[in-house]
Amino acid sequence: MSHTDPDRYVTRLFRTDYPILQGLVASGRLRRVAVSLPGWGKATVFEPLVPVSVHGDHLLRLGHADLKAQIYALPSAAYAAVLRASGDYRQPDGIARLQACFDAPKIDAATFRAELRASLARPLILDSTPHLATADHGGCHATWRPGRTLIIQSGGDWFLALAFSLGVRVTRSPSTSVFGVDLNADPALCIAYSAGVARMIGPRHALLDCLRREHRDRPLSPEEVRVVRALGYASGRVPLEGALRDMLSRAAVVGIEKLDTRQLYATFVERSREQAALDWHVSWLPQALYRAGIRLHRVDPAFSTQACHRHPSHLGIVRGRTFDCPLCTELQHRDANAALNIRARTVIAHRR
Ligand SMILES: [Zn+2]
Repeated sequence: MSHTDPDRYVTRLFRTDYPILQGLVASGRLRRVAVSLPGWGKATVFEPLVPVSVHGDHLLRLGHADLKAQIYALPSAAYAAVLRASGDYRQPDGIARLQACFDAPKIDAATFRAELRASLARPLILDSTPHLATADHGGCHATWRPGRTLIIQSGGDWFLALAFSLGVRVTRSPSTSVFGVDLNADPALCIAYSAGVARMIGPRHALLDCLRREHRDRPLSPEEVRVVRALGYASGRVPLEGALRDMLSRAAVVGIEKLDTRQLYATFVERSREQAALDWHVSWLPQALYRAGIRLHRVDPAFSTQACHRHPSHLGIVRGRTFDCPLCTELQHRDANAALNIRARTVIAHRR
């Protein structure tokens, strides 16, 4: 990536619209281009030859063709940039209230379901305010570049790559350190800040867990599911963007694991909070660090969970959430040990 390349964030297009996409290719409105995108090795990439516009959290328009897309599944700066540039953006009436209700501590599922149903019973309203974005956008700002949109076909699925000019607005702290990041399903992330200090980022969301459990017996409608996913993604974004801002301010170098993202996407995409964590790990963090001039070090994941960060040549035993090293006197949290291992490996690589 050079400084003139746009920053791209990839979101999903809906399976039911695949025939429309094939029709756009057949009619020449999507033209195949020889562009290779990082992390998308064998994908086929298309450029729209028609205007690209966005009209809601789930609505993309290519010329006159309406496509369902996860427009909300972006970092806050990019999401806000899309809304700012879209004069005809429609959102559920009362989405801000719905989000506050979704994130209220101890909200019960019945109350939330009633709010959701009432909101969706009313027509969508014209509203370009990015209610679901975090207030400080993780220290980033973005300008949307709809003319640089790409459509990706990979492994039988279609994706939307929206393009942005991304900038970082964070004051650098005079003292910086090495960070290590471990990505998990739950909690979303564990970040090691210094030798021996690791913190979990992204606690469980009780209401979302409850709605998922209830979904088997009391299914939400497809439209309700779409709105809940957008709310879950927005809620997951808050601690992730807080962590990003912190790194942009204080990190000398950040270590993350080299991951098989294709395998992770298969397990994570149906779960909005986890999807936000994976998107953060795969694209928001690397791109923001690049724009801020902070080095990213990709660590070999071998034994990051099984080896002790204090005694790296010794393997311990992982039992559920705990890690038991044969030489340490106390048990460790499995994810904290992994994040501290990633940090220690990054420190060694950074010294070279
Ligand atoms: Zn140990």
